[in-house]
Amino acid sequence: MKKVVLGLSGGMDSSTLAGYYLAKGYEVYPLIFTYGSKHNQYENKSAFKVVEALGLHPAKLVKLDFIKELFKSNLLQDQEEIPEGHYADSNMTKTVVPGRNSIFITIMAGYAESIGAEIIAAGVHAGDHHIYPDCRPEFINAMCKTILASSENKVHLEAPFLNYTKIDILKIGYAFATPFPYELTRTCYKDQELSCGKCGSCQERLEAFNLLGKPDPIEYEK
Ligand SMILES: [Zn+2]
Repeated sequence: MKKVVLGLSGGMDSSTLAGYYLAKGYEVYPLIFTYGSKHNQYENKSAFKVVEALGLHPAKLVKLDFIKELFKSNLLQDQEEIPEGHYADSNMTKTVVPGRNSIFITIMAGYAESIGAEIIAAGVHAGDHHIYPDCRPEFINAMCKTILASSENKVHLEAPFLNYTKIDILKIGYAFATPFPYELTRTCYKDQELSCGKCGSCQERLEAFNLLGKPDPIEYEK
């Protein structure tokens, strides 16, 4: 069986990405990164539930505590507040974690090479391009070349949702043969059990469900 390695955050994009490769007949090997973000403890729980619900290969938890210690971002614990407002607002740039995806992708590639997986996959999409430089096509294309070179062409980086909107991703999820467990996913950036519904990440998610005419099955803070 063909293998794919992906970073599973527990959010709707990376979870749908796992479903996308399952539907293509791949065995999915998820890595769950914990890097000291405010929402890590909650999203990691979601990620493990998604692994079980979709029947993925058992996930490996990758601890990257140095990110919280060394990098500056409002997304990280003990740093400034998560901004509220629309995802496209300029204050959302405060949630950029410098170099995060380059670190994740490099680790995924090393794992892929070690287990004989030819593909690593990133769940980045067009809605991320405006705010996050490490989700843009120029970054993904550069990383594709880097990973091919570092693995002597054994590992390929794919980002099948690169030019999709969050609504396009939801449409893929709702088109799977079995109902997709979006009720297990979590998107909120805040350090709290229930999703806030107010941060840029929650707003973008709610907007996608709304535009598709589907209720978001997760519970939000009143
Ligand atoms: Zn939120």
